[in-house]
Amino acid sequence: MTENTPATATTSRVAIVTGAARGIGAATARRLAAEGRAVAVLDLDEAACADTVAAIVEAGGTALAVGADVTAGDQVDAAVARVADTLGAPTVLVNNAGVIRDNLLFKMSDGDWDTVIDVHLRGAFLMSRAVQAHMTAAGWGRIVNLSSSSALGNRGQANYSAAKAGLQGFTKTLAFELGKFGVTANAVAPGFIVTDMTAATAARVGMEFEAFQDAAAQQIPVRRVGRPEDVANTIAFLTGEDAGFVSGQVIYVAGGPLC
Ligand code: NAP
Repeated sequence: MTENTPATATTSRVAIVTGAARGIGAATARRLAAEGRAVAVLDLDEAACADTVAAIVEAGGTALAVGADVTAGDQVDAAVARVADTLGAPTVLVNNAGVIRDNLLFKMSDGDWDTVIDVHLRGAFLMSRAVQAHMTAAGWGRIVNLSSSSALGNRGQANYSAAKAGLQGFTKTLAFELGKFGVTANAVAPGFIVTDMTAATAARVGMEFEAFQDAAAQQIPVRRVGRPEDVANTIAFLTGEDAGFVSGQVIYVAGGPLC
């Protein structure tokens, strides 16, 4: 565990961002810290969280590196307990950890199906169940789940699109169940965002990442691909004090509407 100063009155809301060692999760952790949250930077490998934690601390924020596999209930419960003990009760949760195991249906293995469903759906379930106890006790909470434009269907992503569509239903159910406790739940569904995940997709289809991005940008109404910060900005709003009447929504962060 890496830590600096404990939460103070000015960082009274404690946030957990899963999969925050890199990509969208790292940008979100940095952005929430800039908003005054004390942030638990959670990822599979605790050491991999060091860069995100260092960036937050250098900017004057408070962060804690936590290693946990979101698919393992015992690790999730231990991680949430450590965050509560060290930073204070977590009342903001961003379920961002994700993996892809793309393949056409007839070539998709049982393992590739299970891994993707587990990380996205079981992971969000276990984390949300553990953290809601702190949110309902506080009478305030914000949950944001990372869905995807692939929830609408995407060739080669039967596992991923099923998980991301499932997260939308999960989000709406949390909104119904937790609303009376002052807890909102929303989903953010990014389109093409430049991260290691999209770099891996480019490699899989045999394209240079730059050319892959250029081709994607031509299909996007704003004519550019997304950055992790585009998603983090939207999550900052949804987890903010002013978003208490927005719940059960899916916000596509994709540079245009999707059909
Ligand atoms: P990324 O760069 O691949 O980062 C994902 C992070 O999640 C990695 O640090 C990874 O750790 C971690 N992780 C994976 N399995 C985990 C587990 N079981 N427990 C804890 N952490 C785990 O991905 P990204 O592009 O930033 O995507 C973040 C989220 O946005 C994902 O849910 C993704 O599906 C979603 N999304 C991304 C895009 C896009 O265009 N990039 C579009 C739509 C939706 P390791 O490095 O150790 O594997």
